[in-house]
Amino acid sequence: MQRIIQEAYRYASYSLGEGAPADYIPELAKADTGRLAVSITDLAGRTHSVGDSQIRFTMQSISKVVLLAAALHFSGFDGVFARVGVEPTGDPFNSIVRLETGSSNRPSNPMINAGAIAVTTCIPGDGPAQRFERVLEYARSLLDNPELDFDREVYRSESETGDRNRALAYMMRADHAITGSVPEHLEVYFKACSLLVNCEEISFLGAVLANNGVSPRSGRMLIEPFHVKVIRSLMCTCGMYDASGEFALRVGIPAKSGVGGGIMGAVPNRMGIGTYCPALDSKGNSLCGLRAMEYLSQALNLSLF
Ligand code: GLU
Repeated sequence: MQRIIQEAYRYASYSLGEGAPADYIPELAKADTGRLAVSITDLAGRTHSVGDSQIRFTMQSISKVVLLAAALHFSGFDGVFARVGVEPTGDPFNSIVRLETGSSNRPSNPMINAGAIAVTTCIPGDGPAQRFERVLEYARSLLDNPELDFDREVYRSESETGDRNRALAYMMRADHAITGSVPEHLEVYFKACSLLVNCEEISFLGAVLANNGVSPRSGRMLIEPFHVKVIRSLMCTCGMYDASGEFALRVGIPAKSGVGGGIMGAVPNRMGIGTYCPALDSKGNSLCGLRAMEYLSQALNLSLF
């Protein structure tokens, strides 16, 4: 296993120097694009890594998986999917267009920003602090890190510049797709995006999903098997932004990327994969991460298709 990860790392490293970090959130533009890590967690809970696997970065859109798992946990399938659809859009993650032109007032799916904001409204609590605390507690078990926390600087940077997300949320509220306080929903959403993780931890989250919701270390059921099926399906169809189709073709595993540079993959009944490099392609996916995923998929015959 270690040798294959080493080879995936080497193959991915040929793309170092290409792409650029996200800069629409100013704090993310500071990332060191020379960092690269590849981790695999197997279903016995062992993690194997090569590269900068201890470097911490913000989850960004990978947190959409955590938010969805938490929302399903607290509000159930019917509660969540009354507010969000399950269809891929082919549009950029922060697009507003379908909220206006779509056939329903619900956002298309939980993996785009509008959908994830709608999902946060399904996490109950007495105010945004308690609602985020619930997400954080859940994230700590899903990533097997009891100390997990969010990055205050990235949170501040994102809150200050997140007008597009505010626009999405106000538009949904105007159309009665969501109710309640937009600033409060966005506080939960931005804090979730700012959760600080490392590559090993996201590979562990992948392993929980690969292991049908059971922690491969504690043996505890963290996500109900039916919810895991829902989450993995949505990762497959919508998890890699508007490159999800190409990723299905080239790699063929349920995965979710984030503009912080991480990609989390879950290979059902086999393993969780994490990759990290903050230089992104034009769609928002980590370039070296994509290369590493392609290599691992080929070498280990991981494609579901
Ligand atoms: N926090 C980012 C945003 O809302 C997440 C985007 C992403 O990683 O795709 O714009």
